[in-house]
Amino acid sequence: MIMRAIFLDKDGTLVENVPYNVNPGLIELSWHAGQALQLLQHMGFALFVVTNQSGVAKGLFTEAALDPVHERLSELLAQYGVTLSGFYYCPHSPDGVVSRYAVPCTCRKPMPGMLYRAAREREIDLSQSWMIGDILHDVEAGRRAGCRTVLIDNGNETEWNESPLRTPDLKAPDLYAAASMIAAVENDSAMDDAVEDLGSMGNPAASGGLGPPDAVGSGNQQI
Ligand SMILES: [Mg+2]
Ligand SMILES: [Zn+2]
Repeated sequence: MIMRAIFLDKDGTLVENVPYNVNPGLIELSWHAGQALQLLQHMGFALFVVTNQSGVAKGLFTEAALDPVHERLSELLAQYGVTLSGFYYCPHSPDGVVSRYAVPCTCRKPMPGMLYRAAREREIDLSQSWMIGDILHDVEAGRRAGCRTVLIDNGNETEWNESPLRTPDLKAPDLYAAASMIAAVENDSAMDDAVEDLGSMGNPAASGGLGPPDAVGSGNQQI
C-alpha cells in the first residue's frame, strides 16, 4: 500500500542538538516532540528519521554506534505510543578522513537520496509527504524530493543561504507547532476534496443538502 510519510531531521529537530553525539544517555527529545509525532501518526503518516551523520566519515564514531541511537530514540518515542517506520542516515562527508566515507554522495542533505531511498523501499508517495528540519539543507532535500517542507525556525540555521529550493512551505517555532500546522493544511485540503466530491455528484441540494443557500428551498425544484 502506498503511504504518506513525515521525514524528520534528527539533531535540533526531533532531539536536542548535541553535536556528533552517539551516547544514548545524552539523547533527549525536543520540546513536545512525542506529542507532535503522536499527532502526525494519528493522521496516518509513517514517520522516518533522515539524518546526516558525517561523524562517521570524520572518524568520530562508526556506523554501528548509530544502532543504539536508533534504539534509544525508539524507546523514548514508545512512551508516547509512537513508532518510527525507518531510520536513514548518511555517513558520508567530502571533508571526512575515513576514505570509504570521504566521498561526495547523493544522500547527504541537501541532496534528497535518503528520501528517495525510503520512497523506493517503502512505497511512499513523496508528493503527499512532508520533510521537517531545522536548517535550510533539510528544506532543500525535501523540496528536491517533491515533498512539502517545514522549517523549524529555532535559531539553528545561521547562514540563511536562501533560494527557491530552500524556501519552506511553512515555518514553525517548534516541532509541535509544525505538526499542528500540517494538520491544519491537511484538514483544509481534505475539506476541499470533500467539496469537490459533492460538486461532482450533481445538484448538492437534491443529494441531501450542503448546497449554496439559494439552491435550497426555492420550491421550484424538479424531483
Ligand atoms: Mg538539524
Ligand atoms: Zn551520503
